[in-house]
Amino acid sequence: MDSSVYFIKASITDGEKSISRKAQKLFKAGNFSQCFAKNDFTAVKVHVGEDGNNTYITAPCIKGLIDELFSLGTMPFVTDSSTLYVGHRSNAVNHMVVADKHGFNLKTLGVPFIVSDGLLGATEKTVEINCPRNREVYIGAEYDNCQSILSIAHFTGHLASGFGATLKTLGMGCASKKGKLKQHASLKLSIGKNCTLCGECLKHCPGDAITLGKIRAHINQDKCIGCAECMAFCRFSAVECNWCRETEALQQNIAEYALGVLKNKKGKAAFFNFILSVTKDCDCFDTPDMRKIVDDIGIVASADPVAVDKASLDLVEKKTGRKLQELIENKQLDPTCQIRHAESIGLGSSKYELIEIR
Ligand code: SF4
Ligand code: SF4
Repeated sequence: MDSSVYFIKASITDGEKSISRKAQKLFKAGNFSQCFAKNDFTAVKVHVGEDGNNTYITAPCIKGLIDELFSLGTMPFVTDSSTLYVGHRSNAVNHMVVADKHGFNLKTLGVPFIVSDGLLGATEKTVEINCPRNREVYIGAEYDNCQSILSIAHFTGHLASGFGATLKTLGMGCASKKGKLKQHASLKLSIGKNCTLCGECLKHCPGDAITLGKIRAHINQDKCIGCAECMAFCRFSAVECNWCRETEALQQNIAEYALGVLKNKKGKAAFFNFILSVTKDCDCFDTPDMRKIVDDIGIVASADPVAVDKASLDLVEKKTGRKLQELIENKQLDPTCQIRHAESIGLGSSKYELIEIR
């Protein structure tokens, strides 16, 4: 049977209150209350936006969903895990400062922001999954400790996985630092002839893996952790990657980690994708006003994490009449690997029925 995916049209220009009400309407229409029970600790997985970014989904937009959880008697908290790269969310202290600055706090939402993997990103649970790429995965401990999860993802383009939505929010976003590191380990980058020796990549490399040579920078593969920060910050497109091979492994890892996060949450999780302010790159960039690749579409939600991503991708491609690879200007990258692999390991179905709510 096809999975049900609920959809409501929305635009950033509607305003935060209207977006919040529409998300709430979707929650009721999809009968997602059945995923949550009184006294559940409910992890509301969010991305609070990197400091300096202004295209993330803001806290007031999700207030209605938090209110729904309160009405069910759950104990919700907003949460995310530490980042791998050098930024403003790489440990619990600076992450909580950014979360508070962006309104993911008691004052705006009535719930606290808790970092799921502790002060240093090392408070994790090991979950056995026995999948083709990973026998076990390492996730932020609080995702394992809580009883239910409401995943709130911002659909954006992504330079390594094509797009980020529910699967990436769960797989990469809920992993501990060790888990993130293992997922990226397959990504092998090199620096090509476009290098101008500007040195920008060195400043952002968490592995201290880059040195400047006489004609170009070099990556020490023994030190490189595959985080792709150098690629993100190089303005000269000098950092190169064999996308066909590398992205497939990364996307498969993402799907397997998502399976680990949901292992003890059968029937206890709901997934929302906000297809608004869809930028070419993700909310981890500290850049304001990033370029958008599609006009606002709306919000989709499902109890199936695979179906919700497939439906979101289809809506973006239908709206633009173009494949996502073209929109993110990387024709070699196949963004559907994550969906195919997630389906093959039993995480959900790519077949869905789209139910529009008005
Ligand atoms: S940022 Fe790009 S151009 Fe600058 S040194 Fe690094 S690879 Fe070379
Ligand atoms: S060389 Fe690039 S991919 Fe490797 S650790 Fe440094 S920034 Fe990350």
